[in-house]
Amino acid sequence: MPKINNETDLEYKHRVIDIKSKSFCGAKWYNATIWLGSGQTTSCHHPLPHAIDIDDIQRTPAALHNTQRKKMEREQMQKGERPSGCEYCWKIEDIGRDNISDRVYKTVLFTDEDLNYAFRTPASEDVNLRTLEISFDRTCQFACSYCNPAFSSTWVRDINTHGPYINLVSDGRNHFTHPHDSSQLYKFGETNPYVEAFFQWWESDLHKSLYELRITGGEPLMSGYTWQLIDWFKTNEGKSQTRLAINSNLGTQVDLDRLITSTKGVTLDLYTSCETVGLQAEYIRDGLVWDDWVNNVEKLLQSYQLRGLHVMCTINALCLDRLDRFLDVVLQWKTEWGSTFPFFTLNILRFPSFQSPLVLPDDLRTTYKNKLQAWYDSNHTNKFLHEMELNQLQRLIDYLDVVKTPHLGAAEQAVLQKDFKNFYTQYDTRRNKNFVAAFPNLAEWYNSI
Ligand code: SF4
Repeated sequence: MPKINNETDLEYKHRVIDIKSKSFCGAKWYNATIWLGSGQTTSCHHPLPHAIDIDDIQRTPAALHNTQRKKMEREQMQKGERPSGCEYCWKIEDIGRDNISDRVYKTVLFTDEDLNYAFRTPASEDVNLRTLEISFDRTCQFACSYCNPAFSSTWVRDINTHGPYINLVSDGRNHFTHPHDSSQLYKFGETNPYVEAFFQWWESDLHKSLYELRITGGEPLMSGYTWQLIDWFKTNEGKSQTRLAINSNLGTQVDLDRLITSTKGVTLDLYTSCETVGLQAEYIRDGLVWDDWVNNVEKLLQSYQLRGLHVMCTINALCLDRLDRFLDVVLQWKTEWGSTFPFFTLNILRFPSFQSPLVLPDDLRTTYKNKLQAWYDSNHTNKFLHEMELNQLQRLIDYLDVVKTPHLGAAEQAVLQKDFKNFYTQYDTRRNKNFVAAFPNLAEWYNSI
C-alpha cells in the first residue's frame, strides 16, 4: 500500500513527494484523461486538454498519453518547477495552511516503486498508464450549465437551435458560442484513428498495466464502444486485473438494467455527479430528474454488484446553497450501505469562471462557508466519513474563506458577475427555467447585478 502506518495525507506528502521535488505529481506519468472523439488528452481534470499528435500515434499508441507537452511538464516537475497548467493545485497549496491539493490524492494512488521510477527516468521516455479515463464521444442527454458543447450533444443542440450565447465577456475560450465541431472529428460509423489506437494499446499493454480504466463521456452508457469494452471483460474473464469504472449521469434514460445484467462478475466502480438537491440540482444539471437520480443510485446500491460508488460534486456558485443538504443525503446512504457507498469528492469549479464560487459576493460566500463549517462540526466524527472527504470539505471551507481573487486567466469579479447574470438570463429562456424561483436566497443579489 502506498501509505504506511496510518500516516496522514500530510505525512505521506512529506515522506514520498516532497523528497523528490516541490512540484512532483504522479498523475503526470501514470494518470490520463483521453478524449478519443477530439484526439486530446490531459493528466487529470485540472490542466486544460491538449492535442495528441496523430503522426505520433502511428508510431506507437502509447503516444495517446505520452505527448511532447506532458514530457516537458514531467521534466519541470523533476526539477521542482511548477507547470502552469496545474494552477489548480498551486492555488490550493498557496493558501498556506498545509492544505492538501489534488497532487497528493493523485499521487498516493501509485506505488512508491512506480513513483521512484518516474522521478528517476528521463522525461523523454514513454510510460504505461496505471489509471486512465477515456471518452469515446460526446453523446449525452444532459446539458449541465457548467458543461459545454465539447462534452455534450444536447449542448450542441442548444447552440444549433438558439445560436451562440451573447455578451459573455469572460468566456475567452468561447465555450458557449459555437457547436465545437472539433470535439467530434469523426462521425458515427467513420474510422477514428484515436479509437483504433486505444483498442490496439489496450490489447498490447493497457489491460496488463492499468489498475483502473474509467469510461467517461458524454454519457458513456450511450456509446457502443462502452458496451464493447464491457463485453471484452465478460469474454476475457481473468485475463486482466484492471478495474472497470464508468462515469454515468444516472439520468432517466440510462439503461441500468442492462448495466447490472451485463456486468455480473465484472469488478465495477460507478462514478456519478451531483452537488445539490431537488429543483436546484435539476436547474444546474439540465436533463436531470432528481427523484430518478436518487432512485437509480438506490437501485445500484441494492444490486450489490459494485466495488464502489462515487459521487463527484462539481462545486460551483449555485450548489453552495444546499450542498449541506446534499451531504446529508450522501451521509444517509453511507450509514445504510457502508462508508464507500457512496464515497464523495468535492471538485472546485474554475471554468467557466463566471460560475465559480468566486463570483459570489463576500456576504453570500461567508454564509455558505458558515453553513459548511456547521455541517463539518456536527459530522466530522462520523465513522462513515473518510479523511479525504473531510479534508476536501475543510479545504472548500478555507477556499471560501481565503481565496478572493479569481483564478489565473479569469476576469475580475465585477466582470464575472455580469457574465453570470447574462448567462443565466439566456439559459432560463432557452431551457425554460427560472433562476429566481430555483434560488430564492440568491435572488436579491442576482436582481441587483
Ligand atoms: S493539476 Fe495537480 S493533480 Fe493534476 S496533474 Fe497537475 S499537479 Fe497533478
